[in-house]
Amino acid sequence: MSLIVQKYGGSSVADAGKMLTVARRIAKTRKAGHRVVVVVSAPGDTTDDLIAMAKNLSELPDEREMDVLLATGEQQSIALLAIALKSLGCDAVSYTGPQVGIVTDKVHTKARIVRIEGGRIRKALARGQVVVVAGFQGMTPDEDITTLGRGGSDLTAVAVAAALKADVCEFYKDVDGVFTANPGLVKNARKLPAVSYDEMLEMAASGAQVLNARSVEFAKNYGIKIHVRPTFNEKEGTIVMQETKAMEKVVISGVTYNKNEAKVTVRGVPDKPGIAANLFSRLGASGVNVDMIIQNIGEQGFSDISFTVDRSELKKAQKVVNEGVKKMGASGVLVDEGISKVSVVGVGMRSHSGVAAKMFQALAKNAINIQMISTSEIKISVVIDGKDTAKAVNAIHQAFGLGRHF
Ligand code: ASP
Ligand code: MG
Repeated sequence: MSLIVQKYGGSSVADAGKMLTVARRIAKTRKAGHRVVVVVSAPGDTTDDLIAMAKNLSELPDEREMDVLLATGEQQSIALLAIALKSLGCDAVSYTGPQVGIVTDKVHTKARIVRIEGGRIRKALARGQVVVVAGFQGMTPDEDITTLGRGGSDLTAVAVAAALKADVCEFYKDVDGVFTANPGLVKNARKLPAVSYDEMLEMAASGAQVLNARSVEFAKNYGIKIHVRPTFNEKEGTIVMQETKAMEKVVISGVTYNKNEAKVTVRGVPDKPGIAANLFSRLGASGVNVDMIIQNIGEQGFSDISFTVDRSELKKAQKVVNEGVKKMGASGVLVDEGISKVSVVGVGMRSHSGVAAKMFQALAKNAINIQMISTSEIKISVVIDGKDTAKAVNAIHQAFGLGRHF
């Protein structure tokens, strides 16, 4: 019989009805003879609500106390889920992160897991209990409560699976799995039976909101098999795993998009050594994460530099750039918040040529202008006008024959 770690997100424990459905599902797995550890996040919007409460009291709430506060969200979920399980006759016990020895560094609100003791989980499993562990939290070596950053429950699940050498880490979602494109945008998007860790990482980084990227990285490093599957039906979902030969035969696995970036263009920058170094050092020093960069060919000693940043960091980036404009001798700054980044991802790109050409042709045929391009070994991204997103994703999905065949 296997040891299974199951992770349920906040929306699947948002009310009593859903909580009971989840509990029934867990009880069924336990009844089938498997040992089960459940990791759960805070119900519904609880974390956002708690943050809002703190912000009513202080513009910049103390981070140690934020962790004490935010950890209560997950503590509600584990207790309620254990209550639900016991009411169904399924023996269960809930533990907070600190109680099962999830030890982190001291970086409050975005701590990293250092180790997991796990002894308490193993003992409860040996007693035949379902163990319900609070996601998103741990403690410092001094026993101060920490949290792992937004979406951090995914990471707890994978780390617990690694510590216990679980057979699989199942992520229960309100979607059926990982798709070739967002089914809300592309009508014939297809559920993928399997994707590699690297593809999942690129998809997560380029806009697919299925799994937290840090947790996929962790799973890759420890070889933890992930199964992304639906909460409210029994269908098989998508396996995230080590790359196989068969995966390389498929050119493209998916098309993703991200409308949360903005483009900043610095105009009339002197075309001489050290300018880009200066600009991006300033941005780096102020903690702004730059995604894509493009520099035009110089004209009469001047050129333009454009880059994209997450929209949440745009204000910070603008401030840094505006301060630097004079010093660099540039002529001005333009900001475009209406962009969209569309990407194709697939390990098959390593062994197939012409992928970029095919993607660009699909866009050209639809008169969609490409503003920026960037590539990695298994991804090609373009920046386009945001209003063309749906058209672009559908055209590319079609061009690579990714859809379901009716
Ligand atoms: N409750 C936390 C959050 O909303 C952690 C999680 O959901 O994974 O970010
Ligand atoms: Mg949450």
